Amino acid sequence: MIPFSPPRLDKKVIDKVVEVLKSGWITTGPKTKLFEKKITEYSGNKASLCVSSGSAGLELILLWFGVKKGDEIILPAYTYCATANVIVHCGAKPVFVDVNKDFDISVKNIEKAITDKTKVIIPVDLAGFPCDYDEINELVKRKDILKKFNPQTKEQKQLGRILILSDSAHSIGAEYKGKKTGSLTDISVFSFHAVKNLTTSEGGAICLNLPKLFDNKNIYKCLYIKSLHGQTKDALAKTKKGNWRYDIIEPGYKFNMTDIQAAMGLAGIEHYETDMLVKRKHIFDTYSQLLKKYKWAQLPVYETNKKKTSYHVFLLRIKNINEQKRDKIIQSIFDKDVSVNVHFVPVPMMSYYKGLGYDINNYPVAYDNYSREISLPVYYDLTDKQIETVINAVVKSVEENL
Ligand SMILES: *Cc1c(COP(=O)(O)O)cnc(C)c1O
Repeated sequence: MIPFSPPRLDKKVIDKVVEVLKSGWITTGPKTKLFEKKITEYSGNKASLCVSSGSAGLELILLWFGVKKGDEIILPAYTYCATANVIVHCGAKPVFVDVNKDFDISVKNIEKAITDKTKVIIPVDLAGFPCDYDEINELVKRKDILKKFNPQTKEQKQLGRILILSDSAHSIGAEYKGKKTGSLTDISVFSFHAVKNLTTSEGGAICLNLPKLFDNKNIYKCLYIKSLHGQTKDALAKTKKGNWRYDIIEPGYKFNMTDIQAAMGLAGIEHYETDMLVKRKHIFDTYSQLLKKYKWAQLPVYETNKKKTSYHVFLLRIKNINEQKRDKIIQSIFDKDVSVNVHFVPVPMMSYYKGLGYDINNYPVAYDNYSREISLPVYYDLTDKQIETVINAVVKSVEENL
């Protein structure tokens, strides 16, 4: 059976984790700080904070910005539920908008959805393909949009406009006009979950890139305290001689990353650009090459003159089929011992969100993308022979079912 996306766990990862275990310091400490530094260097943003998950990172930023009941947050209908759930946790209203054929949020639809209650827009770099950031960043600075903004908290007043919080869970290493994700919007959040390109088993990072009126290093400190129960000293600082007393300045959260997780991340980021992304690109290129002769295959766009993906998920669509037929094709592929997946069932189709009154009929492009989509396996250890096996299984299964 060819798996869908097992993590890359080579000797380097294992050695680095063992090194941390032997050091005796296993929670947040020097490895986490070093990993943060590496992320900032790699992505070109101003400061990075590692957290326990991508979801925790998104939620922490909404909380920092003071998002609460009565606020509206704009996000694409086509995403993983995490993007929406964190909004619900804050008591705010998720405002889903339809996406483009390239799976990313439509800027035209964002514009239509903005009201005087909008506080944050969360674009999602779906499958690793960056959103239209020039257009999104310009939109929130437009005079008529600025006029609608109704700031309530100190941070909202200081920014003076809608915050762009990029859900970059898929897109570390992706590029937009030569700049890497993490540095493309006010704030971006990466996920290092086990299935993501770069993994710490579970984990995430907040990449700060706020405009000049903010001191990003200071915001880092404030977020760090928020991620650790509002405690003024972390565990490592408290181990210094006589340094036991601390204060709690707010009821913070428990969202910190451990040094064990950071060790995995450090092993991964070292060869991420030169080895992992190269391998993933090779898989994308080979899939495209092998599939392009089939009329039924709608191949994903993953590189344009402006954008370069992080090659996270290969989103194949089959032309002129419906959801039921797609599901049958997927079953046939599994029957040939190849694992595939669907990224994603749009959030408005999920029971909880349906119950809130959201209706997938309002997001026709998201539904069309979803109903014909099959994600193919992409992972470091996938061999050329296995790539061929995958394609043979896909071609046979589609042709059996057409
Ligand atoms: C994985 C994922 C997240 C959440 O990341 P976790 O680290 O699992 O919390 C958020 N958004 C999207 C689109 C994701 O795929």
